[in-house]
Amino acid sequence: MKALVKSRPKEGLWMEEVPVPEIGPNDVLIKVRKTAICGTDVHIWNWDEWASKTVPVPLVTGHEFVGTVADIGSAVTEYHVGQRVSGEGHIVCGHCRNCRAGRGHLCHNTLGVGVHRPGAFAEYIALPQHNVVAIPDNIPDEIAAIFDPLGNAVHTALSFDLVGEDVLVTGAGPIGIMGALVAQAVGARKVVITDINPDRLELARKLGVQHIVNAGEETLPDVMRQLGMTEGFDVGLEMSGAAPAFRDMIDAMNNGGKIAILGIAPTAFEIDWNKVIFKMLHLKGIYGREMFETWYKMIALVQTRLDLRDIITHRIKADDFREGFAAMRSGGSGKVVMSW
Ligand code: NAD
Ligand code: ZN
Repeated sequence: MKALVKSRPKEGLWMEEVPVPEIGPNDVLIKVRKTAICGTDVHIWNWDEWASKTVPVPLVTGHEFVGTVADIGSAVTEYHVGQRVSGEGHIVCGHCRNCRAGRGHLCHNTLGVGVHRPGAFAEYIALPQHNVVAIPDNIPDEIAAIFDPLGNAVHTALSFDLVGEDVLVTGAGPIGIMGALVAQAVGARKVVITDINPDRLELARKLGVQHIVNAGEETLPDVMRQLGMTEGFDVGLEMSGAAPAFRDMIDAMNNGGKIAILGIAPTAFEIDWNKVIFKMLHLKGIYGREMFETWYKMIALVQTRLDLRDIITHRIKADDFREGFAAMRSGGSGKVVMSW
């Protein structure tokens, strides 16, 4: 089969012929229909320090996908050939304390699809039955293909009660924008998103985020004054991984405010911890998606109230992957979806 492979320890990915994955008794073989490119895939393309320490070569990359079941192992009971599915890209061990307690997202032995084991940028992917998620008929392929990052947004946004709250989202990448839309959909009062890239702010505007702030041109205290906010934000969703954004967020929070942090900073950075203490802020790191509560909630949100079509800015054929990665590396795109 055709697959996009990290076959050499240097910059780039290569479309190559590889064997169709074999399945064990508990696995599902999925014929991939559409995939999306994640920032993680761009790190793997760039072969930066993280990627070269983490990813075994050669490896089929990619983890955002939708497809149809092509074959099932002898012990698979929940899925049938022809069914449309996506899947959770974190494979958990099932035997550590957190897994045994039903908290798979906190597993100690998580393996990443397309990071540690063969991924979805291929004509077929094999996944344990436990990780497969059925996709309802009324959800289009291209939306199901971005459930992994949408799940990051939903997990982050729903970490704290948002009803009637004023919410600050730092970083208007695809995940920040989706997080802001989730906050609006579930009943937040004011939702403000910041970025320093005008293309990203324009995308947020196009998708209908309430208040758009160019953090390079306006300060949050000014924005809060314009919005009649006197006490600060109740909830912060950190989606940039940028130190200045996180510091500004801490300054803009109300006393007792809650911050969910998804953004991954390229290097460690300092914050003024005394502000966290005197404001009595709650900080919560977010990794991946809750298994599988996030999947249930995001499917319901997409079915009832979230229109995400415009977050996809590039629809391309898998053979044109270079174009897709160039769009991602430009920093101004929304999601890039590839058809296989
Ligand atoms: P992205 O890189 O597309 O978006 C980040 C945005 O932050 C960019 O638009 C950038 O211009 C903006 N930004 C940079 N400096 C800023 C500043 N000072 N103020 C405001 N915005 C600023 O990333 P994404 O795909 O949307 O993902 C969001 C973040 O979440 C990234 O840091 C990513 O690495 C991280 N992530 C974490 C997990 C997890 O499980 N924790 C999963 C997926 C992604
Ligand atoms: Zn575990």
